[in-house]
Amino acid sequence: AKWMRDTYRSLLVDTLRVMIPAQMRGGRVKEKLIRYVKVKVVGEDLEDARSQLKRAKKQLAILDFIVERGGQALVLEINETFGASSSYIRALSDKGYIEILEQRYYRKPYQIIQRQHKEAHHATEDQQAAIETICQSIDKGQGEFLLHGVTGSGKTEVYMQCARYVLDRGRTVIILVPEISLTPQMVRRFTARFGDKAAVLHSRLSAGERFDEWQRIRAGEATVVIGARSAIFAPIQDLGLVVIDEEHESSYRSDHAPRYSAIEVARRRCQNEGGVLVLGSATPSVIRYHRAQQGFLHLLELPDRIGGAMMPETSIVDMREELKQGNRSVISQLLYNELKGCIERGEQAICFLNRRGFSTFVSCRNCGYVCECDLCELPMTYHRPDNTLRCHYCGDIQPSPSVCPSCGSKHIRFFGGGTQKVEEEIRKLFPEVKTLRMDADTTTKKDSHLKILDAFSRQEAQVLVGTQMIAKGLHYPNVTVVGIIAADRSLYVNDYRSAERTFQLVAQVAGRAGRDQLKGRVVVQTYSPEHYSILAAADHDYHTFYGEEIALRKAAYFPPYAQFVRWVVVNENHDTAKEDAEVMHRHMEHFVSENPLMRQCILMLEATPAPLQRIKARYRYQVIMKYIPEVYGDAIMEHFASLKDACPGDSMLTLEIDPTNMI
Ligand code: ADP
Ligand code: ZN
Ligand code: ZN
Repeated sequence: AKWMRDTYRSLLVDTLRVMIPAQMRGGRVKEKLIRYVKVKVVGEDLEDARSQLKRAKKQLAILDFIVERGGQALVLEINETFGASSSYIRALSDKGYIEILEQRYYRKPYQIIQRQHKEAHHATEDQQAAIETICQSIDKGQGEFLLHGVTGSGKTEVYMQCARYVLDRGRTVIILVPEISLTPQMVRRFTARFGDKAAVLHSRLSAGERFDEWQRIRAGEATVVIGARSAIFAPIQDLGLVVIDEEHESSYRSDHAPRYSAIEVARRRCQNEGGVLVLGSATPSVIRYHRAQQGFLHLLELPDRIGGAMMPETSIVDMREELKQGNRSVISQLLYNELKGCIERGEQAICFLNRRGFSTFVSCRNCGYVCECDLCELPMTYHRPDNTLRCHYCGDIQPSPSVCPSCGSKHIRFFGGGTQKVEEEIRKLFPEVKTLRMDADTTTKKDSHLKILDAFSRQEAQVLVGTQMIAKGLHYPNVTVVGIIAADRSLYVNDYRSAERTFQLVAQVAGRAGRDQLKGRVVVQTYSPEHYSILAAADHDYHTFYGEEIALRKAAYFPPYAQFVRWVVVNENHDTAKEDAEVMHRHMEHFVSENPLMRQCILMLEATPAPLQRIKARYRYQVIMKYIPEVYGDAIMEHFASLKDACPGDSMLTLEIDPTNMI
């Protein structure tokens, strides 16, 4: 906790708060106890009791029932067999024949998952090589690996066999997944293989489930913990291995205080406790791969899919051409043909869209007016079911106008397309086909992710439409067609990682197709068909993408060649926010100007309005800095962090080191 406080410049109380879940504090959640009864009389005493009960038939029957069960029975069982029996049980207890006891009962998440014991696969040569290298490190009690393997190359099997190796040596394992409700199959595979040794931790558990899982871990009953980001704080002892799957996902970084990276915390825990860290991905983050190439961590590659399965054949469709040909639909001709064939063959398809809601914004065809949120000054999103406009940043909901609020024209129309629109178009094109939709709107209830995915895997629907939620580690043997509706949407985000994000998203989604015997087909629809991230993703070619991307990063001084850091300055008063940011900025300028060599390491230092200048009627400014960390990195960072003491006003300040979302 102290290390986190110093590293992330947060308060000790905040770091302790993320380590110990709310349910474990303040006695708000209680242990769940289950009642059972135990016979106190044996031999002659028992016979004596039986004859005493000759006229109390029900009590006698219950006593015999308990004796038959080896002298103990759950009250629940007795009630099930004899109907409500508490008065009889009490009578038996009053007479001293039995005693009523309580026992700890663990509430377990994922009860709907059927537990089947699954044997390990016989590892392939590549897997075996990776497993052996990792296990050698486990013996030594130190090491860090990047396991790069295409989707379906058997990374999960490697994790499981390494985990088994650790458990066999009496030590423990933590497995992190980006968001657990999106990766039910991962949880299923681990619980199937490790049974009651496995515990699941994540934010969607009920308070009782979380409490009990935490205690099972703490008591040493569960020795494999599977969870999302905060599961890195699981109270597990003698940690031998931490696996972080899909290490490139931004969800491993917390976006509120303490702004920690689960990967950095994992590295720290491993160093403290003699564990080995394994980071896995089909599309490693560019920075991580670069570090592996420099030898900071050991690179392991699984280049081929298991069982010789082919990577799916991928076509890129230029949507500008579609429009020229007169196709105004969000579904291209090629995707239509592929869906048609897939449906006729009785196979399944996934259509992916990086957006939620029916359309992105509402604007007037006559005067160009765009409906914006009053508070945030951002276009609002149209939601069809209740004909409302919503702001995702502040949660505001407004009725959708039928005439333009600005010029009174009736030609107020909806732009863009969301998952609902895609689903509607598919229903129009294939009226007889059952579809399912998975996005933020259909998954608000507990376990709703799991239910949608289960229904799809039981083939209750032929087409699944969804947002990036469906891009995660799913495995459906019957899915042969994947359509990516607007592959380049993530390219037009003001972020140096937009090409990387686009590559990852397209490659991950494309990897969903044809994972077993059936041949897969992927259609990538885009307005930027020539972009290297789209081309490389369509070719399932990480190395080419990485080569282009790292060269651009080097030329433009983006991470890993430089580091971004910023202070976000928030105030209800616009002028105070602006002035606070400017004073902090001047302070930093002054500090570095005294050392010309240090000044040269700073590529950018500015005080500007934040990209989202207003959220919830509060004004946001930023002091943003880009610097080369090699030489004076620590001194520069130290001073930048201390700028909070230089802030003259009462603004709320947040320090973001390598911010994941520059908003
Ligand atoms: P990844 O995690 O890289 O996407 P998985 O571990 O999910 O890959 O493996 C893909 C599929 O291949 C799964 O169905 C898994 O059960 C199977 N599999 C993994 N390793 C082997 C193996 N050595 N032999 C046979 N099947 C395997
Ligand atoms: Zn108008
Ligand atoms: Zn708003």
